[in-house]
Amino acid sequence: MSETGITVVLWPRPMCGVIGVYGPPEASNLAYLGLHALQHRGQESAGIVCTDGDRVRLIREMGRVSETFDATRLARLPGHAAIGHVRYSTTGDSSLKNAQPIAIDYYGGSLALAHNGNLVDADSLRTKLEEDGSIFQTTSDTEVILHLLARSRQQTLPERVAEALAQVRGAYSLAILSPDSLIAVRDPMGVRPMSLGRVKDGWVVSSETCAFSLIEAEFVRDLEPGEMVIIDKSGVRSLRPFATEKAHRCAFEWIYFARPDSNIAGQSVYMAREKMGRRLSIEHSVEADVVIPVPDSGTAAAIGYARESGIPFGQGLMRSHYVGRTFIEPSQQIRNFGVKLKLSPVHEVLAGKRVVVVDDSIVRGTTSRKIIGLIRAAGAKEIHLRISSPPTMGPCHYGIDTPSREELIASSHSTDEIRRFVGADSLGYLSVDGLHSILGGLAGSEPTNGLCDACFTGNYPIPLVPPSRLRQLRLISDEGR
Ligand code: AMP
Repeated sequence: MSETGITVVLWPRPMCGVIGVYGPPEASNLAYLGLHALQHRGQESAGIVCTDGDRVRLIREMGRVSETFDATRLARLPGHAAIGHVRYSTTGDSSLKNAQPIAIDYYGGSLALAHNGNLVDADSLRTKLEEDGSIFQTTSDTEVILHLLARSRQQTLPERVAEALAQVRGAYSLAILSPDSLIAVRDPMGVRPMSLGRVKDGWVVSSETCAFSLIEAEFVRDLEPGEMVIIDKSGVRSLRPFATEKAHRCAFEWIYFARPDSNIAGQSVYMAREKMGRRLSIEHSVEADVVIPVPDSGTAAAIGYARESGIPFGQGLMRSHYVGRTFIEPSQQIRNFGVKLKLSPVHEVLAGKRVVVVDDSIVRGTTSRKIIGLIRAAGAKEIHLRISSPPTMGPCHYGIDTPSREELIASSHSTDEIRRFVGADSLGYLSVDGLHSILGGLAGSEPTNGLCDACFTGNYPIPLVPPSRLRQLRLISDEGR
């Protein structure tokens, strides 16, 4: 029970990356390399499932891709087809049981599934399935899809997948592997990205195109919202099993989540961020000596801000790329310990200067507050914080981990109150109109084009489903591993 007397349903809130490879003789190796490129989408667990057309083999572990796989382990994953997954979840259930891909044996054979996104009705569906006798092994919403699929009496796997997905609501980009096919599906609103590429001897699907560059795959196209692509020995087929809906591609992928060298819906993530910075400079201009990014996520927008305003760009903060998780609690003596491990000020860039600091978003406000403190301590004369997205007012229910509404500072504080909390001399956010004008080609009048900006506007395109039963999902803890 929480303090309010309400027990909440606790689904792990994942952020994930998915890859699938069909055709090449060393499919697992390509999936492994692709997962490295998708590592930013999740660092908590990594897994690959492969098939040689007969057996299905799975290796997954808690940890990053480089910690999970080595040459010996990859050699145990032979075959011409593979899917891979990286996952991040911040709630209690960050256990191996919830790691993906999930592999099952059912009456139709062996099957594995990797999911990026979040189902909004997973709890009510799970309750119904459990009342009907289903036994769940994970607390992940993804397992619901597998139960629905296993219950389908359709003849073919694509038909079973379509029947299962027709019963769920939410965001999903899926890769599904069977001994003879790879299926990739995107939800009807296309919330999370998914692209199709060509490699020597086969095909690849990936959450982001940055994986294609690494494995030298040729970009073919994005999967359309609501599209199912089936890849098998006869080639690639496309199905449209769902009714057409207006697309709602996640704006936050361009703002923060995706890698800048990826391309989503024809828009370079890097260029989109640069444009956000340019627009920010027009919307919130200020006289200053230097524009600095909060690296790495604020870099492209800061370059845009500097170019548009004519204020020189500088690297006033250095990021350490080697900090993993730290287990030492910060003490009174070492204030801002956490942020100092990651970011260090360059005094020569900051001292005595009027500084514009560009970051992609403010969530709780605690990071910005510490960063402003660091810059102030380095001797900056004025600090003007510029955020290349609108105020984050609500949580994401479609697959990006954000804190609850109460923890989002912009949900209960005005811009000036936030400015005071973080300690900046001025604060400016990109407007919602500005955001739409940049990702505008997508947000236009075409019925199939559109953006999900729910975390900024509260307009949730997929209606949220209240939990059907008030409970906390738990896993048996396996202490024998
Ligand atoms: P906060 O201290 O909560 O305001 O953190 C803001 C910082 O977190 C920004 O620098 C963002 O780049 C980063 N950020 C934004 N969204 C997320 C997210 N969903 N998960 C982790 N970090 C995020």
